[in-house]
Amino acid sequence: MKNVTHAKCVRCGAEYEAVPGLTTCTCGGMLDIQYDYGYIRTLVSRETLSGCRDYSMWRYRPFLPVEPDSPPTPLRVGWSPLYPAPRLAQVLGLKALYIKDDGQNPTSSLKDRASAMAVVKAREAGADTIACSSTGNAASSLAGNAAAAGLHTYIFVPARAPKGKVAQLMIFGATVITVDGSYEDTFELSKAAIDRWGWYNRNAAINPYLLEGKKTVTLEILEQLGWQVPDYIALSVGDGCTIAGAWKGLKDLYAAGLIDRLPRLISVQAEGCCPLNRAIQTGEPWSPMEENTLADSIAVGVPRNADKALMAIRESQGVAVNVSDGEILAAMRLLGRTCGVFGEPAGVTGTAGVKKALELGLIDPASTVVSVVTGNGLKDVANGIQAAGEPMLVRPDMDCLLSAFAQHSITP
Ligand SMILES: *Cc1c(COP(=O)(O)O)cnc(C)c1O
Ligand SMILES: [Zn+2]
Repeated sequence: MKNVTHAKCVRCGAEYEAVPGLTTCTCGGMLDIQYDYGYIRTLVSRETLSGCRDYSMWRYRPFLPVEPDSPPTPLRVGWSPLYPAPRLAQVLGLKALYIKDDGQNPTSSLKDRASAMAVVKAREAGADTIACSSTGNAASSLAGNAAAAGLHTYIFVPARAPKGKVAQLMIFGATVITVDGSYEDTFELSKAAIDRWGWYNRNAAINPYLLEGKKTVTLEILEQLGWQVPDYIALSVGDGCTIAGAWKGLKDLYAAGLIDRLPRLISVQAEGCCPLNRAIQTGEPWSPMEENTLADSIAVGVPRNADKALMAIRESQGVAVNVSDGEILAAMRLLGRTCGVFGEPAGVTGTAGVKKALELGLIDPASTVVSVVTGNGLKDVANGIQAAGEPMLVRPDMDCLLSAFAQHSITP
């Protein structure tokens, strides 16, 4: 990897060689992959990218910590659509809005970007088995991307994991271990098993390569915008790996001379579980919170990538905004009705935050905003129905249809 120089601890600054099995620093801090941007500039430009026929995250290999001869992953991860959303922009009173629909990844969430990276690094490490602990999208994306590459997965899930995501795990042939205990217990058991059997570790808070996969979302957004830098990029935040990755991607583009200014981040959390945003808003160090939200993918009371996430939000002069579960459900309906995009609750939380930030006067209505939809709504049908309601039910009879229409004030 001539583009990578080393890995550096974000807490104590210690430096490590960038071997495939990297985990955390001996001080407990997360590592951050460091690049030689002078060398990257010799590999990539706006022109080389516009001639590139690889419509997946691997089109950005000059920016990624993978060996030049490592084969890409089989599933098409990345290059999800960026839709202009003029009707939604008008409803919100915003000059310009784009929706990046990352629910269109192969296992239907942005996590595929990190899991595809895990598969490549596991192969480089010579591993044939990968493990992680997760309640949801990290696990299902790992199981799918590993299955396609012929690798086996061990997934540790807490007993309360949502059905749609568990179904994905079983279909992709993962060995699923349901742990009768809390998420913390589940995480600890997975760690002990990984140590015992030497599996490759896909826990995003431990493995520094995963964030490098996630950063491809902003590399894509900027390329899809023709390198016109938006004013804001809005994301939902749980552990903080996604927003930290988004910021890394933007800084990479800046360092490589592909963009000449940086957007600001909008960090959106649920009111009932917002430890990172609370730290931004109060200026205090973060502290754990209860996990009080229906947006399961961001119900993270003890964020595992807090250092990098807080640094990203602060460096970008970002905006932190919290939304209620009611506002999340409303955003599900609004995105569906104005854009034809169906997101899971955590998937639309970023968009709910854009609306809220406008209402609170935190962002200028004359801004251009990109909102990332991070997961598909079909993963969580129950909350879709809760957001949009049940359809009318009629007997097969025209009079019944007419009275049902009258009852619902429908005038065809
Ligand atoms: C994981 C996830 C997030 C948040 O990512 P973090 O890295 O945990 O902050 C947001 N939305 C969805 C759908 C996710 O699966
Ligand atoms: Zn350290």
